[in-house]
Amino acid sequence: MTEAEIFDVIIIGAGPAGMTSAIYAARSNLKTLLLDRGIYGGQMNNTAEIENYPGYESILGPDLSQKMYDGVEKFGADYRYGTVQTINDLGTVKEVITDEGTYQAGAVILATGAEHRKIGIPGEEEYGGRGVSYCAVCDGNFFKNKDIAVVGGGDSAVEEGIYLANLGRSVTIIHRRDQLRAQKILQDRAFANDKIHFIWNADVKEIIGDGKAVTEITYRDKQTDEIKSVPASGIFIYVGVLPMTDAFKSLGVLDNNGWIISNPEDMTTSVPGVFAVGDARKKDLRQIANAVGEGAVAGKGVFDYLQSLP
Ligand code: FAD
Repeated sequence: MTEAEIFDVIIIGAGPAGMTSAIYAARSNLKTLLLDRGIYGGQMNNTAEIENYPGYESILGPDLSQKMYDGVEKFGADYRYGTVQTINDLGTVKEVITDEGTYQAGAVILATGAEHRKIGIPGEEEYGGRGVSYCAVCDGNFFKNKDIAVVGGGDSAVEEGIYLANLGRSVTIIHRRDQLRAQKILQDRAFANDKIHFIWNADVKEIIGDGKAVTEITYRDKQTDEIKSVPASGIFIYVGVLPMTDAFKSLGVLDNNGWIISNPEDMTTSVPGVFAVGDARKKDLRQIANAVGEGAVAGKGVFDYLQSLP
């Protein structure tokens, strides 16, 4: 059996929270491993324009990802691919098992974030990649001058709906309530945009296509109980997020819904040497700015924790 490679700290997830932790840990001279199952950036790679991250009036998600990663590289954190499957708590040593190999460290920072939730209606799976999308910045361009539907009513739905209105002929935002949950500034922009229309109190039922591509989405009008339809070539779904925390079940740090419980003061969990940051935590606001702040706290906290070990 080959021996596991040993680090001071292993950070799981290279979104903004994990990358900031890596910058702080590596800059404190800790031997730092940053693991991700894919390209660094996390959800920022699926985000069009970011207007609420200080220092940038407006920046594309993938551009901000690259700028953060430049810092990770500069301070010498080791970035590798690997899907983490489980973590074994061996006391002062944590063993991280991935599909690419096993690593050990004195501390770990869990930064695996969250992912889009599916609605679970007929046609959603079948037309995935053929009209159904969860990422406007990735797929919006396929629907230039076409009719687009967006399902959802929160920040992501409205923000990405505004972005899609720059590309499509029309954008219809279909929401299950009679008012949006999105921030007021986004609502005002969407209401002022001639290309954006709204359907309220709608329970989406089915995504229909011609076998090759999406042609419409149907919904039940909750006020009249009628089934109605919106013609669309692209359906973008933003109905919430799920924590990416299955790999941490055995650590006993999750709540009943799978969110990680970590102390908002210092990002520690109930397991000594295990910290958690970013969207995977149980918290109210899931944004880049607080993911970064939490990453800084944990990056520094790990240094203090390792110093305190006998
Ligand atoms: P994530 O960004 O989710 O990164 C987690 C990383 O962990 C991912 O790279 C993932 O591949 C990796 N990972 C997961 N599981 C494993 C595993 N088992 N093994 C290895 N790696 C794993 N925020 C803003 O502040 N402003 C905005 O304008 C904004 N717009 C948004 C628009 C959209 C469409 C979306 C989806 C999100 C938006 N957000 C916005 C939210 C913001 O992107 C998130 O709050 C932020 O990315 C969370 O960072 P994170 O590092 O906690 O997690």
